Amino acid sequence: MTRLTRADLEALPAYVPGRAVPGAIKLASNEVPYGPLPGVVEALTEAALQTHRYPDMGVVALRDALAERYGVPAERLVTGCGSVAIAEHLIRAACLPGDEVVYAWRSFEAYPIITASAGATSVRVPNTPTHGHDLPAMAAAVTDRTRVIFVCNPNNPTGTALRRAELDAFLDAVPANVLVVIDEAYREFVTDGDVPDAIDTYADRPNVAVLRTLSKAWGLAGLRVGYLVASPEVATAVRKVVTPFSTSMPAQAAALAALRADAEMARRAALVVSERGRLLDELRTLRPDVPESEANFVWLPLGDGAVPFGAACEAAGVIVRPFAGDGVRVTVGTPEENDAFLAAAAKALS
Ligand SMILES: *Cc1c(COP(=O)(O)O)cnc(C)c1O
Repeated sequence: MTRLTRADLEALPAYVPGRAVPGAIKLASNEVPYGPLPGVVEALTEAALQTHRYPDMGVVALRDALAERYGVPAERLVTGCGSVAIAEHLIRAACLPGDEVVYAWRSFEAYPIITASAGATSVRVPNTPTHGHDLPAMAAAVTDRTRVIFVCNPNNPTGTALRRAELDAFLDAVPANVLVVIDEAYREFVTDGDVPDAIDTYADRPNVAVLRTLSKAWGLAGLRVGYLVASPEVATAVRKVVTPFSTSMPAQAAALAALRADAEMARRAALVVSERGRLLDELRTLRPDVPESEANFVWLPLGDGAVPFGAACEAAGVIVRPFAGDGVRVTVGTPEENDAFLAAAAKALS
């Protein structure tokens, strides 16, 4: 048969989304369970009347709002169709085929896919025995071909977080010509004061880029808005490869409305954090090796038991996210949803 597409893509795993089963409780995709923030539906309704028009390609109002919130110039901000898309644009802006992208493993499952789709080569550095990034090993994995390092903080799917001193030492060790992308999709759920906010702490380093998203704490997963804070040079390069108009007009309007509801976002994040603590306490009575989490999910390192555990939860009407042979990620839901999960977990693990 005549080949019409790249042979190397055949080996590429497809992204596995959290399963949605009608009627079941979905704790599989790290969404916040409380619905859109106040003002978002109204902003979308108004935006709906303008959908025959192209969106603002410069995303000026949203970038200005983000710039003001984080105290960085708008020229350093790039928005996109979810932070995953921006991560892909970053790779495209930084890597030529054969260049290397270093990341921890296990980490976010989009990293191997976006690396391969750019024709770059993945270099995976195994996590520590306590499920966190092994930063000294990641720094040591840098070669002449390394262009990008992903640091996922807190890490999806293990929930572990890196502290200031170890990140400082890592960034000092990485060569200035390697771009370190700190993915902070879960930043709003971080409560440990020693886990640095990368925008405040590191964004002035020219080779650091910080990814954030409106998909998780801000409740806009379905609309697809993420953003990048980077040096002006990196931001300009990324803007060149971004698909034009990829932050849609409803997405821009909804993101602006969500940012205005930041107090309610923080209140909901605090509810999630409180439930996270309860889940961790209860799960540790069953499995003492459940790691601390700074995100809106918890990790059960069940090894070969991961898939059977996922099936047992599903049979009890709760969808979680098993990673075969490794562990299970469970999103923090409402108190009632978490109770249903805990009941299923107690049954499956006892
Ligand atoms: C969920 C998640 C994102 C967000 O992706 P969007 O494309 O913004 O929805 C980014 N990085 C990590 C590690 C995530 O878990």
